[in-house]
Amino acid sequence: MNKLFVLIFIFFFHSNLYAIELNGNFNQGNLIRGKTDTKSKIFMDGKELKVSKEGFFVFGISKDRKNDILIKIIEKGTTKEIIKKVYKKKYSIQRIDGLPKKQVTPPKEVYERIKADNKIISEARLVNTDLTFFNKDFILPLKNSIITGVYGSQRILNGIPKSPHYGLDFAAKEGTKIIAMLDGVVTMAQKDLYYTGGTIIFDHGHGVSTLYMHLKDVLVKKGQGIKQGDVIGTVGKTGRSTGPHLDIRLNWFNMKLDPKSVLN
Ligand SMILES: [Zn+2]
Repeated sequence: MNKLFVLIFIFFFHSNLYAIELNGNFNQGNLIRGKTDTKSKIFMDGKELKVSKEGFFVFGISKDRKNDILIKIIEKGTTKEIIKKVYKKKYSIQRIDGLPKKQVTPPKEVYERIKADNKIISEARLVNTDLTFFNKDFILPLKNSIITGVYGSQRILNGIPKSPHYGLDFAAKEGTKIIAMLDGVVTMAQKDLYYTGGTIIFDHGHGVSTLYMHLKDVLVKKGQGIKQGDVIGTVGKTGRSTGPHLDIRLNWFNMKLDPKSVLN
């Protein structure tokens, strides 16, 4: 990870030493990874975070969050609070015209299928394991890649504003090998979802997951453990895609985060 963004806060309170390390900048859409004393309890927005036996924890900052983040640390019965300001991110607007109508508004007969797809994606993202792979440095999913779409950009398709784009798009030739950005366990591997086509979701622990979509070949199976750098599939244009490209997603449970916040 980019150590430029490593911030270390050390607090002294009633002669107790509070040590908490927060990695990542507090921008909208970012994933924040931290380390604390293994016996500490950490709360974010009043919600207790899982602390691993090594002291690792993680949380996300939602795309449009405006208010400060309150982090509460309870150590040896004493409470300390940290308030972090959230920095705004600029999101762009992207217009794509001339798309076939069925690509802009799905036909009624596929509504049930879309609902079922969303359900399995959501369930895979809600997995909350003790894995701590999220703490490692991510690598890019393609050897040579050009980013063509970014997180938070809103698309106006044939003049109709759609929900924001939560992924990072990479232009690549159909069939290009895709590698795992991080160690993980496959929680979903599907060949043909309506929007996302060939789709893989990896669990990296504590609610952190990554998703790869529009794949031509899906080369992993649910339950499989994958090492960073392993080939997991190939670039395609499956699902609703305007052409061959890879779209990746980063989530903290169902909170959609900016994959760029973990990639250099
Ligand atoms: Zn995309």
